[in-house]
Formats: sequence, structure tokens, C-alpha cells
Amino acid sequence: MSRRKKSSKKLVGSIIGIIILAIAGIFGLNQESINEFLEAENTLNTGVQEVTASSLPVDGNLNVYFIDVGQADSILITNNDSSMLIDAGNNEDGEDVVNFIKEKGITTLDYVVGTHPHEDHIGGLDDVINSDLEIGKVYMPEIETTTKTFEDVIDAISNKNLTITSPKKGDTFILGNASLEVMTDSILDEDNLNLSSITLYLKYGNNSFLFMGDAEADNEETRDWPKVDLLKVGHHGSSTSSSEKFLNETKPTYSIIMAGEGNSYGLPTEETLNKLQNIGSTIYRTDLNGTITVTSDGENIEIITSKNQ
Ligand SMILES: [Zn+2]
Repeated sequence: MSRRKKSSKKLVGSIIGIIILAIAGIFGLNQESINEFLEAENTLNTGVQEVTASSLPVDGNLNVYFIDVGQADSILITNNDSSMLIDAGNNEDGEDVVNFIKEKGITTLDYVVGTHPHEDHIGGLDDVINSDLEIGKVYMPEIETTTKTFEDVIDAISNKNLTITSPKKGDTFILGNASLEVMTDSILDEDNLNLSSITLYLKYGNNSFLFMGDAEADNEETRDWPKVDLLKVGHHGSSTSSSEKFLNETKPTYSIIMAGEGNSYGLPTEETLNKLQNIGSTIYRTDLNGTITVTSDGENIEIITSKNQ
């Protein structure tokens, strides 16, 4: 009985949602109105564990740039006038990352994510924050370290009067007409900062992307995973990530590995490459392909590489 009640309530919520979104499409409602609607729909759908914003209408292209910053991560995501940066490479990459963002005509980063406080992820983040780019929300895990790299980022954040938000599993937010969901809680282990990585699932129309930072098998096994079109492979293709169960669930059509050409860690490992090949995933690597640009129109994904196309 009560189950039936809940699902009819959800149906009503969804119908109202579709109507409001149709009106939003016709009248071109702004981001704030859409956010308000999503909050309202959240309330209607209390207890439903789905990504709440997956019904946002597709508008234009979603662009995901996997910037070649050597043995490090930096990913820029844009849709319409909204943009998000996930990581900013090593310390010496900061200026290049800022220039890359500005070359795309971007003046505001709505979200800046430092997946975890290792130099190859937050190294260039102080340059990004200290630049004249406007910064919205800063997401970082709730863990500290004593490195100068980390302190530089914290200084930059406080100099710009920004605050850090540490997201929790299940948190959702909107980037343009794409929806994002935080997939795991950070495992706070000072001896292995990789485990604190913020993991993000992005849905745009019918396309889905999963950004794993340097999350490892310990993070992967904390939940079940949806099938995705594209996976930013965890931890530069290390064997500590990308467990067989995880890959069988996510079954990414495309896998992106961010690694430095001839890096001393031997990443990505043969083991990870074999596992990805075994599930039929098409692999792109920044060490071989340079900067990788992924474009989604909500239905189809196109990939352009700066090297070895
Ligand atoms: Zn890393």
C-alpha cells in the first residue's frame, strides 16, 4: 500500500517536473529558477535515490577537456555559460591551466574541485584561484596535509574570501544543463590521501560521465555503480584502482587515462589496460593523445585529441 502511494507521488512529481521544465525551455528561465525547481522536485521525490536533475533539457554542447598536464590531472567542463574545473595539475602547470581556461573565453568558474590534496591534482589550484577568474564554489575533501602546495591553496582560498565545501555521497548540483552527483564519501586516511578523492557522476541528456580522481578499489567497493559512457580512470590507470567488479558495472564505452609521457611510475599499468580492453572500452591517454576534448550533444559523444588522432 504505502509503496504504491510513494510511486504515485513520484509520478505526480515527475509530471509536474516535466511541465515546469517545458515552461522553462519556452521562457528561457535562468539557472536560479531551474535550481529552485530542482529543490522543489527534490522535496516531492523525497527518498528517491536517483540523480534528481537527470530530466534537465539538453541545451547546446557539453564540452569536457582533459588537459594534458603530464603526470597529473586537470579537467575543464563547460555547458552554456557554466563551467567547472576538476584539479589543476602540478605546481608548474598552474599558469598553463589558467591560460587554457581563458582561451575558452571563460571568466567564471562556477565550481572548482580539488579531488584530493596531492600535488599532481591541487598543485596549480593556487594559480587558478589567485587569477582574475571569478570562482564560485570550491569543493575539497575534509582532510588536511602539511605540504607547502596544500598551504598555498588554502591561502589562495582565504585571500579570495572563498570557503571550502566538503561534499558528501549523494550531494547533487547543476552545471548549466548537466547534473552532477557525488558518488562516494571521502575515506579520510592521512596515510593514503587518494582515498579522500571526490568522485563525480555527470549526466547530460542521455550521456553519462564518471570522474574518479585518484579513488582506489577501497572507494569503488563502497557502492554499486551505474553504467557510464565515459570513465576518467582512477589514479592514472594504476592497478590499485579499476577493480573488475567496478569496470563490469560501469562498462565505460570510452576510458580516459591521464598520465605523463614516460612517467617513472609506469602508469598506466598493463593490468589496467588489459582490464579495460577486456570490457571493450576504447582507451584514450593524455600521455599518447595529448589534450583530449570530448563533446556531448546529450545523445552522442565525439572525441578529438591534440596528438595521434
Ligand atoms: Zn594523482
